Amino acid sequence: MAIKRYHYARDVEEALSLLLAYEGRGALVAGGVDVARGLPGEIEGLIDITAAGLSGISREGGRLVVGATATLEGIRTSREVKAYMGGFLSEVMGHVATLSLRNMATLGGAVVSAHPWADIPTALIALGAEAVWRNEERTERAPVEELYARPFRAIFRRAVLTEIRFPAWDGAFAFEKLSRNAGDIALINCACGLGLDAEGKIAWARVAVGATPYRAARLAAVEELLAGEVPSEALWEEAGHRAAVEARVGDDMRASAEWRRAVIPVIVRRALERTAREVKGDA
Ligand SMILES: Cc1cc2nc3c(=O)[nH]c(=O)nc-3n(C[C@H](O)[C@H](O)[C@H](O)COP(=O)(O)OP(=O)(O)OC[C@H]3O[C@@H](n4cnc5c(N)ncnc54)[C@H](O)[C@@H]3O)c2cc1C
Repeated sequence: MAIKRYHYARDVEEALSLLLAYEGRGALVAGGVDVARGLPGEIEGLIDITAAGLSGISREGGRLVVGATATLEGIRTSREVKAYMGGFLSEVMGHVATLSLRNMATLGGAVVSAHPWADIPTALIALGAEAVWRNEERTERAPVEELYARPFRAIFRRAVLTEIRFPAWDGAFAFEKLSRNAGDIALINCACGLGLDAEGKIAWARVAVGATPYRAARLAAVEELLAGEVPSEALWEEAGHRAAVEARVGDDMRASAEWRRAVIPVIVRRALERTAREVKGDA
């Protein structure tokens, strides 16, 4: 790495114009947690966006809007975040790394880095969160799930992620993570959401599994299995087993594909049980 210049952008326009002026030889820096671990050799200029006015957290009706440079600890402790979906996102942030890291790392950095082993993409995909970014021509937006199906790293070489928008859901979400210790990264993680109709049947279901060790993905077959059913222990059991069949798992230095397939039924069942308790209001 041969960094020649470090800029402090005062707003999104300045950050974007600096980024574009470097023509691929510049990079944005937010918390710097991943940037400090290494950058491509051609990067000459870093553009710090922590004072670019992107750290706000607000509610818009039932929706939640989090600025790209809001820190993970700022999100975890935010009153607005605690009031959104029963504090689900606050709980997820509590599972991420350590306090010192959460004080630096930002939500935008987590979305752009998109580590396959991370917890945040799993939660964002389950929640149907939407990314908003500014490029040379316009403001663009897309669900995070869709963004990850695009060449998103190339997009953010010429764009600034400005905020993440979280929709309002009539229901509840829960998150589960298995790791070797509290501060460690996931061996596997899972985020589930459920909503009930007037008869107490499942109106909608969202199930995402991550750190498989591939980036989080929703399990459509499991969501379909749950929709229209009456919540029960047997249903969570069946959903867990279907999840183990549907999820794409692999080996890495942390766990084997075999181990991951064996624990998916457990982690999905636990997440669904907790979500159901939450949605019925007896959590
Ligand atoms: C030791 C360690 C443990 C971790 N544990 C966990 C864990 O348990 N769970 C989990 O989910 N995650 C975990 N993470 C991942 C962590 O959440 C991310 O590394 C962190 O959020 C990155 O944020 P940052 O602000 O530091 O990003 P930076 O390092 O500043 O940036 C990361 C990348 O994103 C780009 N970027 C940053 N902001 C923007 C923006 N607004 N627009 C466009 N591009 C942008 C940068 O140019 C860079 O390419 C861990 C990371 C480390 C290093």
